[in-house]
Amino acid sequence: MSLRFGFDELTGRTWTRCPNKDVDGRPATDALASPASCPWTRGAENKMLLKMPQKLLKSANYIELGSYQHWPVLIPQNIRLYTYEQVPLFLKENPFITDGYRAHLPSKLCLRSIFMMSNETVNIWSHLLGFLLFFYLGVNDVTSTLPASGAKREDYVIYAIGLFCFQVCMLCSVGYHLFACHRSEKTSRRWLALDYAGISVGILGCYVPGIFYAFYCNAFWRQLYLLTVLSLILAVFCAQVHPRYLSNDWRHIRVAIFCSVAGISVIPACHWVGVNGGFTCEVVQLFLPRVIVMYLIAGSAFLFYVTKIPERYFPGQLNYLGASHQVWHILVVVMFYWWHQTAVHMMQFRHSQPCPALTSSS
Ligand SMILES: [Zn+2]
Repeated sequence: MSLRFGFDELTGRTWTRCPNKDVDGRPATDALASPASCPWTRGAENKMLLKMPQKLLKSANYIELGSYQHWPVLIPQNIRLYTYEQVPLFLKENPFITDGYRAHLPSKLCLRSIFMMSNETVNIWSHLLGFLLFFYLGVNDVTSTLPASGAKREDYVIYAIGLFCFQVCMLCSVGYHLFACHRSEKTSRRWLALDYAGISVGILGCYVPGIFYAFYCNAFWRQLYLLTVLSLILAVFCAQVHPRYLSNDWRHIRVAIFCSVAGISVIPACHWVGVNGGFTCEVVQLFLPRVIVMYLIAGSAFLFYVTKIPERYFPGQLNYLGASHQVWHILVVVMFYWWHQTAVHMMQFRHSQPCPALTSSS
């Protein structure tokens, strides 16, 4: 249950909304009921509300987060939160997130809502911080990691592509979660398309350094795989232009496309083990565990994304914190970071050990 309360400037009285008074999916008596008259308001909450300094109440509205936490949270003026039943159809993605939705907002208020608590706050900030992390890693690579490892110009290019892709992915995701609540469905859908495009770019950012260093000593396979991956990502982009791509009918096709683009990486991974002479080879023993960990992180991130676990078992309890999409976001950042560190290790290995004569000529 979520309860909102605040101070009414006109009447000079505190107000609350009783969720059970909602009629036809619309708030019936918003800003009208006094806390004492709301049958759903528990004694402790009522006391807490009435004790709140009036000055503080006048400056902002506060929300209670679910039934398990009591955090006073600032809500900018002109923004209110909605329940699942109250939001427009295009925002009804996850019925287990029952409250805390922003909706019907113009762009300016979407932006301002970045500092308030809603069911998208963790999604926005996890990838905003992710963007800052990859930006910092980029600066750090150029100023210290790469020069210290004796990197060549091509190493700089590969790192720049990888980290740029990760940053684009993070920013597209921030944009979508910030502007999905836009009053225009068209704008919201455009940001959703950009979020999906960002995922493809993020996958590309994993492939480029991975293939480059895995086939560092084999120019033919390196170029072939890089070209194949580029065409695949391009094909995904083309699919995204299709008008039905964002519809719910194509939900499974969307998931299938992303799974195939990511899953197809098993082919170069197995090939890399074979080219290096199997599991006994030093480079395979060094880096195969890292590749397996990468697949485990990606697999678990995907499972959270599609199964909507854990909120499926606690509907309404994880509206603000602990929902599957938040876990997915954090795992994506962890996965990109892990892959970046793996690329650093592979680059340092390749620069410390020259390519074997057998494959360097091909
Ligand atoms: Zn997201």
